[in-house]
Amino acid sequence: LQFNLKNIPGNNAVKDALQTAASTKNFAHALLFNGNEGSGNLPLSISFAKAVLCPNVTENGPCNTCQSCKNVDKLSHPDLHFSFPFISSVKNKISDASLATFKSAVIQNPFLSVNNWFELLEPGKQGVLTADESHNIIKKLSLKSFSGGYKVMIIWRPEFQNASAANRLLKIIEEPPEKTIFILVSEKREEVISTILSRCQLVKVSPPVQPEIEKFLINSFSVEPEKAKLISALADGNVGRAIEMLNNEAQNLDMLDRFVQLNRLAYKRDIASLMSWSEELAAIGREKQKLFLHYCLHLTRLSIRANFLNAALDNLSNQEKSFLAKFAPYVNHNNVIELNELFNKAHYAVVRNGNAKMIFLNLTFGLIPLIHPKNHKKSA
Ligand SMILES: [Zn+2]
Repeated sequence: LQFNLKNIPGNNAVKDALQTAASTKNFAHALLFNGNEGSGNLPLSISFAKAVLCPNVTENGPCNTCQSCKNVDKLSHPDLHFSFPFISSVKNKISDASLATFKSAVIQNPFLSVNNWFELLEPGKQGVLTADESHNIIKKLSLKSFSGGYKVMIIWRPEFQNASAANRLLKIIEEPPEKTIFILVSEKREEVISTILSRCQLVKVSPPVQPEIEKFLINSFSVEPEKAKLISALADGNVGRAIEMLNNEAQNLDMLDRFVQLNRLAYKRDIASLMSWSEELAAIGREKQKLFLHYCLHLTRLSIRANFLNAALDNLSNQEKSFLAKFAPYVNHNNVIELNELFNKAHYAVVRNGNAKMIFLNLTFGLIPLIHPKNHKKSA
């Protein structure tokens, strides 16, 4: 995956402005790229750095063939520096020990979420940007640039800086060494220490919309069109989540299993098993619960299409296809609105931190009358 402004989904006006700024070398020396998780603020910042560092850059972009461009793609350009939250300990007060892990994680998924990053470092721990790390940044930028051109420092998630870490950086961000750019990449700019925030020029990054993510998955990962549609819909503007789903298809199959089981038990009115199903769902964690409910909504929509539009479902996985063949007849114009409401209501309750066991128990009880054969016959 090349770091190219053109390849990143959405944000066309922002990309154009960044491209012009890079080729004319007309930009502020401290920028803050702010956007939701998975919206692309990190790959945008790296792609902008690539254009700034390429000696052959034009208004059409960097050359992508010179040593500088190749090094940026491998995240090994000697004038491109990174700072990011890491697990601090007595032995380890700067990010350098985690740098190799960080680079390979970003190459694998440039839309990486901070939670996945911490999970990768040490499950259950939260990272920080320490005052020592600020000193480390200053030290790195005091060296001469290797190429004789710009030096770029990307600070990912400055929200994780405490006041003393931020204070140490104030002076250098205000008056950086010659040909030095700071790019701060945040998701919640209101949580960035205000004295840092006020010294940066803001670049607003918006979450890409579903068709943009769909196109991105097809172009950059050669995903089959029908699958790209499904994943982009489930991603909800978070490209990182879409890439994770690609990397983890087993999880999709797992969700399908749960959905099949839910419908089978509700159909049989097997209350005892529905209760244990709810308990299982309550234990998988909020993020997976949200993903599961998105998936339920999506399968309901697909069922309606299968019934009424006779849509081509050939590109779905075999498991999904054979399930839809059985499930679709139970979704019809009498119950589709109620099914949608049921899954939406559960999703809303999960987002609002409701009691997960109750949410899923209510969901199962709500489902029984909707998919029962009596209801089905009435509509047929
Ligand atoms: Zn180049």
